[in-house]
Amino acid sequence: MSRVFNFSAGPSALPLEVLEIIRNDIPDWLGTGMSVMEVSHRSKEFVELAARAEANVRDLLGIPDNYSVLFPQGGATLQMAMVPLNLTGPNDSADYVVTGSWGKKAAGEAKKFCNASVIADAADKNFTYIPEESTWNRSDNAAFLHYTPNETIAGVEFHFIPGGDVPLVADMSSTILSRPIDVSRFGVIYAGAQKNIAPAGITLVIVRNDLLEKARPNNAHLMTWKSYAESDSMTNTPPTFAWYVADLVFQYLKNRGGLTAIGEVNRRKASKLYTAIDASDFYSNPVRKDCRSWMNVPFILADSSLDAKFLQESKDAGLTNLKGHRSVGGMRASIYNAVSEEAVDALIGFMADFEKTNG
Ligand SMILES: *Cc1c(COP(=O)(O)O)cnc(C)c1O
Repeated sequence: MSRVFNFSAGPSALPLEVLEIIRNDIPDWLGTGMSVMEVSHRSKEFVELAARAEANVRDLLGIPDNYSVLFPQGGATLQMAMVPLNLTGPNDSADYVVTGSWGKKAAGEAKKFCNASVIADAADKNFTYIPEESTWNRSDNAAFLHYTPNETIAGVEFHFIPGGDVPLVADMSSTILSRPIDVSRFGVIYAGAQKNIAPAGITLVIVRNDLLEKARPNNAHLMTWKSYAESDSMTNTPPTFAWYVADLVFQYLKNRGGLTAIGEVNRRKASKLYTAIDASDFYSNPVRKDCRSWMNVPFILADSSLDAKFLQESKDAGLTNLKGHRSVGGMRASIYNAVSEEAVDALIGFMADFEKTNG
């Protein structure tokens, strides 16, 4: 068996320990004589799995009792529509802080359903910073404020939680579970699974219970958070395999000491990589230093004619998926929880060698 160091932005690496459990479980899960993909979601074994997954993610994130934990399908993108449909009427206002492509997409979706305004926008500097909070042009009666704590493409991250009394809605797809967070500061947190949780197909949504009452009465059943809250996310047949993997990942993170310990490793990984980039004239990262992402590290080569060579040689060295997003160019290393410190060290070593040969 040969495993690469996978720096994919998503779907992304899963822990090898988890993959090995899956391989072992597949033919006969828990003595059922079936794989987890073949059992009823109403079976005792699966209902226990669902309860354990919720208990463990509550424990990992310290989710208060007055929040519901939901596991819908549709990814983060469906939540971009569900957020306004569950929190506003058609004439209500909502505020969006746009610091990258995903926040822009969320605002665009919300504009179809409510009076959504972009109250701050970092597009003027190519999404390389977070506009000062005091300059945000907040609406008087916003039903919520939406932002993207980590923008996956440009690698821009909030290292603070915005203030104010308006419920905060956060798309945490690419930062969830990377370190502890104070859930009580948020109204809604949502995250597609395929970065830090599980394979694509399941979504984690954490909603403060009072907000479950604000959904439009004519909402489709599957577009209504409360339907999931009332059915333990078994509103219809859930994505059972992805849920099973999420459960294993939550247990894996707990076994590794929980999010404080995970966060320390992630801080170290990011810090090493940025230090290496900043120390060189050959590589650079365009993001303002106080808003650099711990999870997605874009970097460009001073001479972009070397991009193809860098990608080929890094791939040959077992370092994959380093090509940057087409909107940014250059390279991007996504260093999620399942990307080990060893992988980051290997990348830094490769970058130094490549610079020596080509610089
Ligand atoms: C990947 C990503 C998305 C899109 O997620 P889907 O699950 O594909 O809908 C949205 N927001 C952010 C911040 C992401 O990183």
